[in-house]
Amino acid sequence: MIPRDVPKGFALFYTTFDIDGRLNEEKARKMMDFVRERFGVEAALHTCTQVHGVTVTRVQTAQSWSECDSCDALLSDERNVALGIKVADCLPVTMIDSAHSVVANIHSGWRGAASQITALTIDKLERETAFEAASATAWLGPSIRSCCFEVGEEVAIQFPQKFVERTKAKPHVDLVSFTAHVLESRGIQRVVDTGLCTRCEGSIFHSYRRDGKTGGRNLAVVAQ
Ligand SMILES: [Zn+2]
Repeated sequence: MIPRDVPKGFALFYTTFDIDGRLNEEKARKMMDFVRERFGVEAALHTCTQVHGVTVTRVQTAQSWSECDSCDALLSDERNVALGIKVADCLPVTMIDSAHSVVANIHSGWRGAASQITALTIDKLERETAFEAASATAWLGPSIRSCCFEVGEEVAIQFPQKFVERTKAKPHVDLVSFTAHVLESRGIQRVVDTGLCTRCEGSIFHSYRRDGKTGGRNLAVVAQ
């Protein structure tokens, strides 16, 4: 699935491509063939071994697929780089500053969101690259939405209460609105929400809550 407003010279898409949480050289190469054919971008894929933490890794151009040991966000200001984030209900947050050729991709589940992983990524972007919020666009990918994200009180209290719905028996957290608020408060005015819930009936995307541990993973890929 390709969201709207992807600038020319960049790639962004969400795929249910059959991965069980681990990629390999061949799968990464196939995906980069698609990026070349569909978007005209030549890139090598970088992914992370995700741990629901807040480590942000800066990626440099490489020849072949690589995966960091433990991080949950990737950024780069180099060309020929693709950044892949694995999700199956958690929110993929992607940023492109096309004026300064900077891209970032974030794995933001509720733990990452509560620990401010999106704000921490913007901090690093502003510290280490030419990134400017005013020229950036952010995309909020397919993820579990407030319709389906029932949580316990111990999770609900970690968010500002305006992002917690209490109309049902248990609280429901709106991670998407929370994240959009973080992006806007940091000066990113263009936020594109795909509006897709992974858990909802009829979703084509993998969902951890629906499918359990044996389910697949979705991949959010941005490239320049
Ligand atoms: Zn839903």
